[in-house]
Parts: sequence; C-alpha cells; structure tokens
Amino acid sequence: MNKLTPPDIDDAAAFTALANNRRVDSFPRLQGSVPAITEGYIQYRAAGGNGFAVQAVQLDAEVGPLLRAHYRKPPGVLKYITDMRRESEHWVCPMCGSLHSGQLDHLLPKEDYAAFAVFSLNLVPACKCNTRRGRALLGNAPGERILHPYFDECLSERLIAARFDDLGLVPRVSLQLCVPQEHVQYEAIAFHKRRIVERTAILRYFADGWSNLCRRPRLAIRALAVVPASSEQLRTTLLEEVGLLDEEHGGKNNWNSAFVTGLLDPHVVDWLYARLAAPGRAADGPLVA
Ligand SMILES: [Zn+2]
Repeated sequence: MNKLTPPDIDDAAAFTALANNRRVDSFPRLQGSVPAITEGYIQYRAAGGNGFAVQAVQLDAEVGPLLRAHYRKPPGVLKYITDMRRESEHWVCPMCGSLHSGQLDHLLPKEDYAAFAVFSLNLVPACKCNTRRGRALLGNAPGERILHPYFDECLSERLIAARFDDLGLVPRVSLQLCVPQEHVQYEAIAFHKRRIVERTAILRYFADGWSNLCRRPRLAIRALAVVPASSEQLRTTLLEEVGLLDEEHGGKNNWNSAFVTGLLDPHVVDWLYARLAAPGRAADGPLVA
C-alpha cells in the first residue's frame, strides 16, 4: 500500500499510434474505437480512477480481446507496459505493502473494463496479491472500493499496523486499521484491507518478525542490541525505527513499518520492556525462556 506518482505517458497519442500502426495484427480494427477510448481516458482521469465514478466505455465486441492481447504482448508503441513491469520489481507493492512487485495490476479489471486494458493510469505495479484479488473492485456497502495508488491520497497516511495480543512466544496476530471510523475514506480503506491486504501472507510475516524479536531482539530491531533505559526510551527507539522504515520504503504502509508500528501499542511496549530489562537476561538474548 503506497501512494505513487502517476506514470507520465501520453496515452491518447500511444493508443492512436497503435490503432494506426499497419504492422500490428489488430490493424485496422482499432481505428473506429479511438474517439471512445481516448474520451474514456479523459473521464477515467477526471474520476480519479474511482470504480464508482468511472463509466465503462462501450466498444465493439472484437475490440476488448484485441486490447487484452496487446496488453499480454505489448508492441513497440506500448513499450511503457514492459518498462513499468520491469522498473517496479524491487518496489514495495503499492496494493498490499509487501516488499516486492514485479506484476502489473489492472486497477479496473481488464475483463470488465476492456477500454482501459493498456491505459497507463490503470496499470499499477503489484505483487502476487494481484492474482488473489481477481476482479474485486467494489463492495456491497456504500464507499467500499479498492484504493487507487495513483489517485487516493489517503495511501500516504498510516493506514495499517500489526496487532499483537495474548503476548508470549506465539501471540495472537492480526491486522489493525490506524484510521478512525470518521475518516472520509474509511469504508474504502477497510474494504481494501479486507480484500487485498488480508489475503496475502502479511500475518505470517508479522508472526515471523515476532518470533525473531523474541529469539534475538536485534534481528527484528537493530537498535535493541542495547537494552533501553526505560519503556519511554524503548518507545522512542521504535518510533525512530518506524520513521527510518517509512523513509526507506517510500511510504507508511509497507509490511516492515506496519510490523514495528504494531510494537508501539502500549501493552506491547510494556511487555517488551519488562522482558528486555529482565534481571539476568543475557545481552541480545531471548525474551522468552
Ligand atoms: Zn501486493
């Protein structure tokens, strides 16, 4: 989950060039759809990619399959598709916050919105969560929709954190929202969390991080090689760690930031400090016997 700067592509020019290119298999069957599709691009941008607001574009039956084929095997004029996939491989996944990408997700699914199959603003880098998401876009309740990394500014806010309960070697692990129900996009954020983030291995990731923390604190947080002087100092150390992780990963909703943010819950800070400072514990030794 990350806000991204939208790609800087002249999509209307690219699509017109595609339709007029005699060397591609689809020629000349896309020519008649140029006005409708370029108009669709304009209204998609104006609607901020919001699935409730973007109108589906009416196309001749043969156009959708042709566009999806061009997406699968982009000709030279659509080279930006190949570039976007390759250049984002090492990014935090803007959709779920995992620490890699490597695929492209059609924010408005190409099966339902064929007109946007090769539209750069509809193509968002993503990890395997793309496959698990399938065609999910809108929920049943008002406001429930998948967030759009190019348009939804709320993705810059801290939206998710780990939650640890029943603390011990194997705690109960869940994913909490960091925004109040009054947040103007609460329904969309909660839907996105449920339909995308919670269908990944994020809880397993948090559980493994916790296991490292208990076994050898420094594996999870380097600064914990030294026992903090107080629970307040532990809190400061964790806050600094979150700030560094946010900066390193270009946003606040990557899985590492979400893990450490979960450690900042007061009951977790108290628990951790008591164990870090327990009499007789070896330096950088385990927290739980
Ligand atoms: Zn992902």
